[in-house]
Amino acid sequence: MTAVRIDGKALAEKLRAQIAHEVEDFGGPVCLATVLVGDDPASHIYVSKKHDACAEAGVESRDHRFPAATPEREVLELLHDLNADDGVDGILVQLPLPEHMDEPTVTRSVDAAKDVDGFHPLNAGRLFLGEPLHVPATPLGVMAMLAEYEIELEGKEAVVIGRSEIVGKPMSMLLLAQNATVTICHSRTPDLAAHARRADILVAAVGRPGLVTRDMVKPGAAVVDVGVNRTDSGLVGDVEKDVAEVAGFLTPVPGGVGPMTIAMLLRNTLTAAQHRREGVAVPGS
Ligand code: NAP
Repeated sequence: MTAVRIDGKALAEKLRAQIAHEVEDFGGPVCLATVLVGDDPASHIYVSKKHDACAEAGVESRDHRFPAATPEREVLELLHDLNADDGVDGILVQLPLPEHMDEPTVTRSVDAAKDVDGFHPLNAGRLFLGEPLHVPATPLGVMAMLAEYEIELEGKEAVVIGRSEIVGKPMSMLLLAQNATVTICHSRTPDLAAHARRADILVAAVGRPGLVTRDMVKPGAAVVDVGVNRTDSGLVGDVEKDVAEVAGFLTPVPGGVGPMTIAMLLRNTLTAAQHRREGVAVPGS
């Protein structure tokens, strides 16, 4: 079997064009503010890509960058101002933050209504309760890919490797909401391969090249590779290339989940603007 390649790049382009039309129809400005602290080169590239995507979709963007030694208080003050600024619909704090900052304190300082990353406890809680408002963009992108390729989820075995707040946990909740039977694996899971082999849908979100090998994949399974690893031979995911010989569907790296994340960030920003205009209440924000 040769797996169908799930083309995240093509789907992301289609979604971005759709979002651009919706932004036009919205008939008013939609604005995303990004906050980046430090000099991590990958973060600077990611943030610049997000601004390019905004410009292309007709979304305004504001770019706040701070040196690594900036006191946490200064970043919190900026977030306070952005929360209060009626011209800003979405706020994104690029991770990782420098060591001296407490990531939860900073990310939770973003107003839940503008939290396009879905990190705020209110948004995480709403996803948990099955009433999602802002959902982290990466797992949202994975769900859009599975839907586009009409991959059945109801009653299927889904195995998610990784339990981060950004990917693994929200991914598991989204699959559960679609009535998949979900197993969450992590670094303390004994015999990962035995779990993985049961999966009809296998999502790898670890950040370890070669973690998923072909013997760990059930023939015909849909395999989603969220991992991004910079190696001497270029950008690779968590899944070995020859998994394509066993899987039914496979997302490539690059060109799979990555482009979908940016498309979903735009979607979340537009949703935030629509909710703010319609006065959708976000309790506690
Ligand atoms: P993270 O916060 O470091 O979480 C990694 C998870 O993997 C943890 O839950 C960890 O378990 C688990 N893990 C580590 N080693 C393992 C092992 N040997 N077996 C099973 N599980 C193991 O990372 P993340 O932010 O979720 O990101 C995961 C990967 O996705 C990274 O490569 C990242 O670059 C990529 N990513 C891509 C996108 C995109 O748009 N394409 C977006 C976000 C992230 P414990 O909890 O037990 O430590």
